[in-house]
Amino acid sequence: MSDVAVIGLGAMGTALAEAFLNKGHSVTVWNRSPAKAQVLAAKGAVVAASLEDAVRSSQLIMVCLLVYDTVHEALAAAQEALSGRTLVNLTNGTPEQARAMSDWAVGHGANYIDGGIMAVPPMIGGQHALILYSGSRQAFDTHAGQLDALGTSMYLGEDAGLAPLYDISLLAGMYGLFAGVLQALSLTGAVGIRAGEFMPLLMSWLNAMQGALPKWAERIDSDDHTSAVVSNLGMQADAYVNLIDASTAAGISTELVLPMQDLMRRGVAAGKANADLSSLVGLLQLSKQAT
Ligand code: NDP
Repeated sequence: MSDVAVIGLGAMGTALAEAFLNKGHSVTVWNRSPAKAQVLAAKGAVVAASLEDAVRSSQLIMVCLLVYDTVHEALAAAQEALSGRTLVNLTNGTPEQARAMSDWAVGHGANYIDGGIMAVPPMIGGQHALILYSGSRQAFDTHAGQLDALGTSMYLGEDAGLAPLYDISLLAGMYGLFAGVLQALSLTGAVGIRAGEFMPLLMSWLNAMQGALPKWAERIDSDDHTSAVVSNLGMQADAYVNLIDASTAAGISTELVLPMQDLMRRGVAAGKANADLSSLVGLLQLSKQAT
């Protein structure tokens, strides 16, 4: 028996297996393309001949494949072996996929934990690698010591969908930031300003703007978007037009920034001109508006 089995040895799965090995855990690995297991075998991992052998090698089964469909496809061959074991699925997916996977695994007698990896492979094993978990509390408590080998573990609750919900929400914030940075560098780059020259100023500005976010949280939680507003939506919607016009004049695509303009206009039309930008959350929550 090994302490842990790692199924899927892409860039992330390999990093996970290495982190377990580095912390002194015995590890069995399996990958569809067997050649990827050789590096880990040289570091002491046992290479399972089949996915079912990998599942039977340990109480703790970590799966990290590309998408959920491949997890279903791959594990179908070993579903009988899952009973009594803990399946931790770190494949990126949606809350709905996680809940369905949880039902499937529990239906085969396994404990299920879903996970979201907030790190890139070189960070795995270090404290800055945040790994979000949700699902069976009992299984998480049992294996927390082993899971801590991967980074900083955060358990979110029994609903298996919570880890992917947090994961996707954090990624939404990240991609929003990246989209804005792409637009900024396109604008400055078009007139020959080097990205390296502009970036320190951009980073300093973004850091300063992050200071507004705790107030947003307060406004959203209290549903008060109008008291002590210093930069109201009406003013911002008017100024935003300049961002669109300047981009167009410079020959820069507005595909990343136009949706925000549409939303701001919708907010103004809905009577939120004197409210803070945080009030737009309500307009995005279409399902709440429908009820
Ligand atoms: P890779 O593309 O490097 O690896 C994909 C893995 O999935 C390989 O082991 C591949 O096997 C396996 N796979 C794909 N299709 C099948 C299939 N039909 N049957 C069996 N195995 C299959 O991806 P990563 O390792 O980078 O990512 C894995 C997961 O981790 C993804 O969900 C990703 O979103 C998530 N993640 C990745 C991060 C990153 O920075 N890399 C960051 C955070 C999360 P084979 O080798 O045979 O092709």
